[in-house]
Amino acid sequence: MQDKEQAGIVFNVQKYSLHDGAGIRTMVFLKGCPLRCAWCSNPESQRPQPERAFNRYKCLSPAVCGYCIPACPRSCIFDIEGLLAIDHAGCSGCLLCARACPTGAMTVYGATRTVAEVLDLVEQDAVFYARSGGGMTLSGGEAMQQPDFAVALLREARRRHVNTVLETCGHCDGDALEEACRHLDSLLFDIKHLSTDTHKEGTGVGNERILENFLRVCAAFPSLPIIVRTPVIPGFNDTEADIRAIARFLPKRANLVHELLPYHRMGQAKYEFLGRAFPMGGAQLADGTLNRLRSVALAR
Ligand code: SF4
Ligand code: SF4
Repeated sequence: MQDKEQAGIVFNVQKYSLHDGAGIRTMVFLKGCPLRCAWCSNPESQRPQPERAFNRYKCLSPAVCGYCIPACPRSCIFDIEGLLAIDHAGCSGCLLCARACPTGAMTVYGATRTVAEVLDLVEQDAVFYARSGGGMTLSGGEAMQQPDFAVALLREARRRHVNTVLETCGHCDGDALEEACRHLDSLLFDIKHLSTDTHKEGTGVGNERILENFLRVCAAFPSLPIIVRTPVIPGFNDTEADIRAIARFLPKRANLVHELLPYHRMGQAKYEFLGRAFPMGGAQLADGTLNRLRSVALAR
């Protein structure tokens, strides 16, 4: 199969991004992630398949509309005193309710796209990439959860002279990650914690594979610019010792930068749309923490 015919599941293509690689970029978010970070701002990215979500703010109400109720073959959607309610546990994910909904209140995160479809969208902004040094950034979820699709996207982008960046959590097949790196202009690699036990508590997996893949990529691609990113999460990695341990682990090379990202709660509403609880509750980063930890990271 040719790269451009390869298909995968994409849950968002976001244009005009300024934060995930050089210049103006188009973010391509692939569905599926092996981690379950408590602070994840894209919970709709985690499961590999397309999934139903309900935004009650867009709902016309069952009395005015109600098309989704008879559309559900499992009788999971109810009118309770004029408000729509969903039995999430009984839902099979057939997505028929979303097809019946006229407003997008009942919607689907994720759709099958070919490489050609994605790159045609990405190329619409070629003029901005040329002026700013931007291009396409693959993200997720974890883009390397769909390794053949991710690599095909990167190869096709290169054929079209589009600058390429991959954002990865590193918990993926090492051979596939190496193959992806052959088609990259730079790499964004998340390292969240050096203690595997703490890493497992916060993300659901230990960090052995992540650290091994990181060192492997560093050794195999000495001239590839790498930005190591650490989201600073209250109660997880917000001490000087946590950040110093990561900073000391990183190899000293001129084209490697360690960037700390602020904790935020921007994905909170999406948990409600998916019928899940937001795992972080009301946790906040203490004032001044991020700046203090940034100076620790700089001192490595
Ligand atoms: S996706 Fe779930 S709620 Fe919607 S129609 Fe199918 S079973 Fe019913
Ligand atoms: S079909 Fe859509 S707008 Fe109509 S009641 Fe159901 S969720 Fe609301």
